[in-house]
Amino acid sequence: MDIKIDLKRLKDDIEALARFGRDPRGGITRPSFSQADREARDWLKEKINEAGLTLRQDGAGNLFGRLGEEGRTVLVGSHIDTVINGGKFDGSVGVLAGLECLRRIKEEGWRLTKPLEIVSFTDEEGNLVGDFLGSRAFAGLLNKEEIEKGMTSFGRPLKDVLAGTEFSLESILKAHEERPDVEAFLELHIEQGAVLDTEDIPIGIVERIAGKNYRWCSFLGKADHGGTTPLELRHDAFLATADFALKGTQHVATQHYGSMITVGKVSVLPGSFSVVPGEVDFSLDFRSASPETLKALENELLTLAEDIASTRGLAFYSRIVDKTEPVTISPRILGILQEECQKLSYPLLTMTSGAGHDAQIVSAVAESGMIFIPCIDGISHSPEEMIRWEDLEKGANLLLQALLRLAS
Ligand SMILES: [Zn+2]
Repeated sequence: MDIKIDLKRLKDDIEALARFGRDPRGGITRPSFSQADREARDWLKEKINEAGLTLRQDGAGNLFGRLGEEGRTVLVGSHIDTVINGGKFDGSVGVLAGLECLRRIKEEGWRLTKPLEIVSFTDEEGNLVGDFLGSRAFAGLLNKEEIEKGMTSFGRPLKDVLAGTEFSLESILKAHEERPDVEAFLELHIEQGAVLDTEDIPIGIVERIAGKNYRWCSFLGKADHGGTTPLELRHDAFLATADFALKGTQHVATQHYGSMITVGKVSVLPGSFSVVPGEVDFSLDFRSASPETLKALENELLTLAEDIASTRGLAFYSRIVDKTEPVTISPRILGILQEECQKLSYPLLTMTSGAGHDAQIVSAVAESGMIFIPCIDGISHSPEEMIRWEDLEKGANLLLQALLRLAS
């Protein structure tokens, strides 16, 4: 099927979308339902209309552009929201490459047996209440209590953020009722890691997406005078945290190689120059592509923390903040992507995604697949995020072939 995407047009779209939410500190800040997001959505709606696709929007603000009428839908897309000071490729490349594919198919007058639809999911980045608000709403995986009680990362209830928009908690909860019958979902995304760039391979085909477990943890010890309390009499919550971070990482590296553990945020209290830390609150993020390993890690890491606490005479507490299960990509979609990539003679790597994506959520309601393209030095969620345009061209051409095959 000799049809190719128009890279120049796709590139122009990516640059045009990057104008919305430009942050004076660098990069792009465009959380869902912000002013910048509203402008970006209006721009995208116009693009969908210009392309001659049928525009619609569901109760969660997920935006769609449809080509074709009846039948099971083949869906393609990603998200256009960003983290604070994010880059212009994360999410955007997936939505705009999908748009470009549908434009090309329409221009060529390709006859399909199934409808194609692009989607831009709301709040993939979790600036509002947990990751994947839009795709979870689409899949019917949200619960009422969670979004009623949930505070956004801007410290406001979601309800307040929605005031003045055309959306409400109720419309978000009902969004899945508007979901068409979906045959498959494809998502093109930057890798957000350095594997493809390091190995100089333009295409990654995702075979598994890691599940994750996010927790807030605390060691509670005793705040004592740093000049008078002998070392052996201290109950130092910071040392317990350091001990845990180090031993936990060694454990994952030696027993569960390929899984991940990160202590990314640490707050030391009382946080004074010469006071032994009495309390440390910290974030714990661990991930694995295997459900068994993820479960085992939960037991092993919490046991390790309890052991450290009891050896050092402290207490340990933890509560779960967010959790997703690992996803194995459907073998049919994986096979189609691999075959089409080989036909195009693009070098490819079959790989695991350590980052979460909308595709893992949509996989609850439809077979889903993912294509990765490299980002330079693996940098993402940063103003420095960069790609090579020729990699995007390859990724989008692969996406196009896979869509044609799924919808023909
Ligand atoms: Zn993303």
